[in-house]
Amino acid sequence: MHKDIESILLSEYQLEDIIEKLAEEINNDYYDKELVLIVILNGSMVFAADLMRKLNMPIYLEFMKASSYGTDTTSSKVVNVTMDIKTDIKDKHVIILEDIVDSGNTLSNLKAMLLKREPASLKLCTLLDKPDRRETDIEVDYVGTIIPDEFVVGYGLDYAQNYRHLPYVGILSRSVYEK
Ligand code: 5GP
Ligand code: MG
Repeated sequence: MHKDIESILLSEYQLEDIIEKLAEEINNDYYDKELVLIVILNGSMVFAADLMRKLNMPIYLEFMKASSYGTDTTSSKVVNVTMDIKTDIKDKHVIILEDIVDSGNTLSNLKAMLLKREPASLKLCTLLDKPDRRETDIEVDYVGTIIPDEFVVGYGLDYAQNYRHLPYVGILSRSVYEK
């Protein structure tokens, strides 16, 4: 275990299981459709890479970058789209892939913005959900797993751009950010 990690919340094996189940749900719901996956960078890239390899339908991959976080461990309310998708999603079936839903501000902003482009359908999928910290009434269609109100890193998730490469999801030691 990395020295800055207090404990492992989800092991590689638990993550595999979670992703297997999410893929099964999505495969059932979209078996006869084409799907546009919008990956929210940078955090969701590891999750997206694992999930999409378990999906059976034709997949079109798109990336979007939104920032609502600095190097801080608490969310801010302003969501800036710093990189937009490149294709038109009108009349397409779309799923937004997010690493974690915290306040819900990021996803509710992105959803509202993408709905204006008139997709045939738009659903939200997150690997991790921290419902204790929700500030919006956003409904997430596919949730990998619910986690407690702790700041987690690894499996794509960062603190100040570090720790994304860890193969598990771990709770970051408070001593790292409470200096
Ligand atoms: P929201 O807009 O729902 O408050 O926040 C969503 C974003 O905040 C996530 O995409 C993620 O970048 C960041 N975030 C929220 N909680 C955590 C956490 O526990 N760890 C990390 N690394 N990022 C988090
Ligand atoms: Mg994120």
